[in-house]
Amino acid sequence: MIRQLRASGGIWFEINDTKLLVDPGPGSLVRVNKSRPPLKLSELDGIFISHKHIDHTNDVNVIIEAMTDGGFKKKGVLLCPAEAIENPPVIFPYAAELVEKVEILKEHSQYFVKNLKLGVPLKLRHLAETYGFILESDGIPSIGYIPDTEFFPEIIDAYSKTKIVIINVVFSQPRPGIMHLSLPEALEIISGIKPQKAILTHFGMTMLKERIWEKTGQLSEKLSIDIIAASDGMTFEL
Ligand SMILES: [Zn+2]
Repeated sequence: MIRQLRASGGIWFEINDTKLLVDPGPGSLVRVNKSRPPLKLSELDGIFISHKHIDHTNDVNVIIEAMTDGGFKKKGVLLCPAEAIENPPVIFPYAAELVEKVEILKEHSQYFVKNLKLGVPLKLRHLAETYGFILESDGIPSIGYIPDTEFFPEIIDAYSKTKIVIINVVFSQPRPGIMHLSLPEALEIISGIKPQKAILTHFGMTMLKERIWEKTGQLSEKLSIDIIAASDGMTFEL
């Protein structure tokens, strides 16, 4: 993140006319505005924050301003853990007041952003209070987002019905105690869930040094699951 070897602007979903931005880290504002085809922040319907760490939230306040036309049009849903708006908040109180609705994430709960249903299956195990989601909407395969967490087997059951899994994989080898997934742990989760596709993202240095994008073909074959390594600006058609 610090050297921007990989962009940290988050993930933009456009499903059934609903637009949702997930984890707008450093560079999100710039990346969204520079993207082609264009993405319009003023058309955003919701923002999902998995946890308060800066690589997931740095741009959230300015993104809220952009979503609400500089604060003149109260709109949108902000979904975040309580910790993100508590003392000290990473989402400023003035910014939280600009959105139409703030949803405080809890495990085993469901939320809506227009016609998107976001189920939060379980609380993940990370240094901050962290939640992922299972996104469902008419006519699309269910999408599971597994953000920063250490490995624990309950993740597999919790996400077992998802057809597309987006998973944050920081390390190429396990590093116990750091509370991030490594590639072998992520592959264990993916082979347990058995989705149609798995998208690996949020790579740390060891994943880049190992050139993970050159190994996905082999991994896909081994697991009989289509595995994709995310790249900056990548578009994935549902
Ligand atoms: Zn984190």
